[in-house]
Amino acid sequence: MTKQYATLTAEGLRIDDEETLEKFRNKMLSASLVSSMLQCPAQWAAGQLLPKFTEQDLDNAMTRGSLFHRVMEMLFAQDKNNRGKARAMELAGEVLEEKEFSHFRHNEEALEWLDGAIDNYFAMGSKPENVDIANYKGRGGIEIRVIGNIEGCERQFHGFIDRLSYGKNGGLIIDDWKTGATTKRYNPKDRYESGWAEARQQILYAYIINNEVKDESEEVKKARLVFPVTGEVVSIDLGNETYKQRALKDVSDAEKVFNKSCEDNLFEYKKQFLCHWCPLVKACPGGMSPVRRVKKAIDAYNSQPDIEELSKGLKF
Ligand code: SF4
Repeated sequence: MTKQYATLTAEGLRIDDEETLEKFRNKMLSASLVSSMLQCPAQWAAGQLLPKFTEQDLDNAMTRGSLFHRVMEMLFAQDKNNRGKARAMELAGEVLEEKEFSHFRHNEEALEWLDGAIDNYFAMGSKPENVDIANYKGRGGIEIRVIGNIEGCERQFHGFIDRLSYGKNGGLIIDDWKTGATTKRYNPKDRYESGWAEARQQILYAYIINNEVKDESEEVKKARLVFPVTGEVVSIDLGNETYKQRALKDVSDAEKVFNKSCEDNLFEYKKQFLCHWCPLVKACPGGMSPVRRVKKAIDAYNSQPDIEELSKGLKF
């Protein structure tokens, strides 16, 4: 063991490294923290710890997402008449020269994925040459950080908006690039609530901006999830008061779970189908037993670190 970061107790993950626990205690709320606290606090804590002592595959959903985000960030920093597909492809080449993304340079599969995402982005009717990037607090609205208070919460909430632009009929539009392989469209009738976390994130960003502007004409009027891999766009219903209230309640509920986890130093297990995608699954006393029939779940389970790997930083 390199250093003992945490112990898997019968009820949850206990952090043994005081410095890490202190960092957790000081965290702000964010969309991903909210989702994680409502899903499984132990999985969240494990996700924070494992990169410290296990080898991470540099080619993963998150790093590919960052790659696409970076190309878009550079594309929308160009003059309007220089935002065509050819320019986007050129910029992709420049992004690959950056140190953070250099590991993708000879990864044919990832490069093909990126080309496909850029192709789809243009094929889906996007008109980047018509986009007026908004000014937000004195800077252009690309990859901008929003930070604010959420009703009923002690901690501040923060996050990054991929693109903030001016709407044709006034007001602001949030666009968020979602580079996953499936379109997430929230439907309240869906029992798995697919797409709710993504919708909630945009509702909260709009809430923060709309709370700080003085004039209604400066408010966020629209929010969209743009899925360049599937070629689809999902509009978020920002006017739906039920969704808004639920989003605020989710943040408040998640904060309570997070505060309690930090105070008790116990990040509890919450068994669920998604256990198969959790890096603790092979060691977790509270996790779901592996299913036998769902190939995606079996593959996900098999790709998780084994006990030997986990024991480099965790005690059982
Ligand atoms: S295996 Fe399941 S219950 Fe255990 S930490 Fe992971 S998600 Fe939570």
